[in-house]
Amino acid sequence: MSGEASRVWRSLDASSLPQLLAGLREIRERLGGRPESWQVREVGDGNLNLVFLVDGPTGSVCVKQSLPYVRAAGEGWPMPLTRAFFEYSYFQAVAPWVAPFIPAILHYEPELYCIVMEQLSPHIILRRGLVAGQRYPRAARDVAEYVALTSFFTSDLGQSLERKMALSATFSGNSALCRITSDLVFADPYRDAPRNRWTTPQLDAIAAELRRDGALKVAAARLGHKFLSCAESLIHGDLHTGSVMVTESDTRVIDPEFAFLGPSGFDLGAFVANLLISYFSQDGHASPAAPRAEFQAWLLAEIEVFWSHFRARYGELWRSEARGDAYPTNMFEDPASGKALEIERARVLDELFGDMVGFAAIKIIRRILGFAHNIDFEWITDPHRRAHCETAALLLARAMLLSPAGFASVADIVTAARHFREHRGNGHS
Ligand code: ADP
Ligand code: MG
Repeated sequence: MSGEASRVWRSLDASSLPQLLAGLREIRERLGGRPESWQVREVGDGNLNLVFLVDGPTGSVCVKQSLPYVRAAGEGWPMPLTRAFFEYSYFQAVAPWVAPFIPAILHYEPELYCIVMEQLSPHIILRRGLVAGQRYPRAARDVAEYVALTSFFTSDLGQSLERKMALSATFSGNSALCRITSDLVFADPYRDAPRNRWTTPQLDAIAAELRRDGALKVAAARLGHKFLSCAESLIHGDLHTGSVMVTESDTRVIDPEFAFLGPSGFDLGAFVANLLISYFSQDGHASPAAPRAEFQAWLLAEIEVFWSHFRARYGELWRSEARGDAYPTNMFEDPASGKALEIERARVLDELFGDMVGFAAIKIIRRILGFAHNIDFEWITDPHRRAHCETAALLLARAMLLSPAGFASVADIVTAARHFREHRGNGHS
């Protein structure tokens, strides 16, 4: 954080927040009534920030403020306040294409590192809905649309190199959050790191096995290298089911504080990983009275929906909206060249699919053997049952990393997921 900012930053609370909002005309009018009547609730259930919901007589807002440390780890893990700036800048950068899929951003307070945005209601976090066995018919398709739009229009296919490099300049400052991903996602689960944890003793053997597996670690490290060095598009950087808020008819992406110029497959992989995690975790939430088999079949079908919508949409955008400096349109105007370009489009999409598979595997492993876990598995209270679910997920992830050629289509992912669940992950131990 800069010296200037650190002098004025203070953490907001239920009394200082209404004062701040009362000084912002549009927000004051939106909330209505007198500031003393506004209800303020702190609801941050995430790892990093303060999140307040503010309700007035005529409207509501949500306020998210950075803290100078990682919330989940106490004050001993410092973290720059600037992550609110990157979250705000990301929302600004992608809003021209995906405004219906993000909360409206109402105000940014630079010195307090705080964002005032639309309060999403009655939305809930997608992950929570999935843990409850609830279907969201639009979610996977909407997130696929979202990733297609953001990853295309912020890439060199969709925009000029000048705009791309301006984005790159802005987000290259987000190194602290990239370090979290680089360490916690790509490295720690594969080495002895004090922050790692897993369901013990049930997963001790498999955790040790993974840490000894040279080929697996090379695959993980290769993806880690790609994450750091492939500035393909402006990525959200943390697009799991906890970063998506839903109703049955509406889907919004939140929490892009990890945003930077990275490989587009990372966002795709994050979402697919979390659908797979949900799939494997269902055996731990099912009961004879409330079986989850049909729900699991739906989750796998949604992975197909997700990829096929993304693939179709990205290809379509490339055919109709290519204004970038990569593959200049006027190089391919004659029919033969057009045909060659179409073959190349398919190859690029196949490569994106491969990236998605690899990053999905990495994301599954970090949620089971690394620092930050998901309620999908954590809410399975019986450790034996949880370990069965987690083992099946780990076996799938390992296969995805070690045998990428065996995962050439979504059908391959779905078949393998079913296989590992049936053969290793029977939850009723
Ligand atoms: P963190 O980065 O600290 O994890 P998030 O952005 O994920 O914070 O927000 C934490 C929680 O606050 C979310 O899980 C959600 O429950 C709630 N939340 C965040 N943004 C909104 C919003 N715009 N409207 C309503 N609730 C929100
Ligand atoms: Mg966050």
